Amino acid sequence: MSEAFNKELETRLIRYCKIDSQSDASVASSPSTEIQLDMQRLLVDELKEIGAQDVTLTAYGAVLATLPSTAGNKAPTLGLLAHVDTAPQFNASGVKPVVHRSYNGGDITFADAPELTLSPENSPYLSGKQNHDIITASGTTLLGADDKSGVAVIMTAARHLLANPEIKHGKIRLAFTPDEEIGRGVHPDLPKDLAADFAYTFDGGKVGEIEYESFSADGAKVTIEGVSIHPGTAKDTMVNALHLASKIIMTLPHVSMTPDTTSGRDGFIMVTDMTGNAATAELTFILRDFELDGLAAKGALLQSVCDTVQLSEPRAQIGCAIKPQYRNMRYWLEKDMTPVELAHKAAKEIGLTPVSNPIRGGTDGSRLTELGVPCPNIFTGMQELHGPLEWISVQDMNIATEMCLKLVQLAGKNS
Ligand SMILES: [Zn+2]
Repeated sequence: MSEAFNKELETRLIRYCKIDSQSDASVASSPSTEIQLDMQRLLVDELKEIGAQDVTLTAYGAVLATLPSTAGNKAPTLGLLAHVDTAPQFNASGVKPVVHRSYNGGDITFADAPELTLSPENSPYLSGKQNHDIITASGTTLLGADDKSGVAVIMTAARHLLANPEIKHGKIRLAFTPDEEIGRGVHPDLPKDLAADFAYTFDGGKVGEIEYESFSADGAKVTIEGVSIHPGTAKDTMVNALHLASKIIMTLPHVSMTPDTTSGRDGFIMVTDMTGNAATAELTFILRDFELDGLAAKGALLQSVCDTVQLSEPRAQIGCAIKPQYRNMRYWLEKDMTPVELAHKAAKEIGLTPVSNPIRGGTDGSRLTELGVPCPNIFTGMQELHGPLEWISVQDMNIATEMCLKLVQLAGKNS
């Protein structure tokens, strides 16, 4: 394993993780939060400094740049993407990255949360990382390696390629996107602005993982109008919308169809939000399945539960609206597996065993693939995402960087 990039990856990751760039699903604008632009302005400066061309911060908050072709052939244009936002689910302000140099295989403790331990018991992938330099947060925040490790890997590879023009590759387009964690990373203008023939997100976990299957996803809003009246005179008149909302939740299957009771290739229905009062209530659901017929069946099930509860209380008004969110990228990639095969080849050439498991979630690549830019997802090494135990090995990021460099060279030959 080449040590060449370790120091650069470590300092980049620490610099990026210290910047709070959390996204916010409750805000409709793009980007959803102004603070994401703090990351973006830094990346604009850094890209200009390393000599990237066409460096742009778009109106929707993405940073784009070009690495010109050095191959002198008609190689396809390759896109490399990472997202700059961090997950809204956990505290992301005041991140203090800590380097656990040459990890000894034991427990890792956290200065700001003495009750917290990271160990091979609660994070089994750690057991293979002895002597690696492990980066964590300090206990009260997430780290943000998801996906600042992807940013660090792509920036390090880009810096290396621009400094070494004798490395032959086709035209490369870089994109650093906001709002991935809230499912809005791919703005409708991004495919045209990126102008790549195919692309890779660096937003995956274990070394060797190359993902080209994601969930297909729908969202549902259930609205309930009850009958509101003063509780003192409510007998035989009040219809409490909150009672009906909880009835809908409790009628849906709990044992076989929630995220906490499913794994592998099984889909689920999850209630993510419940608001309201006696007069009106609203439920938000996410529906997930790897296959479209399975997804449609989950939508039909939710609809039929709403219909049943409606029938039980005709004085209420219950509506159920289901909207598509993203689709399994396999539907498009299996028609042309070139980007996946190229990634497998690159992994093998740097001595890895490629592994492709379905992602129980989506990436920017799901939407981008659907919009015509095939986009598998590549590992960076990140682990235990969206919480205080989040960690990454510098040496894993180094392998991801080697992978990135191998990919661009193989794609450059592919004319
Ligand atoms: Zn991510």
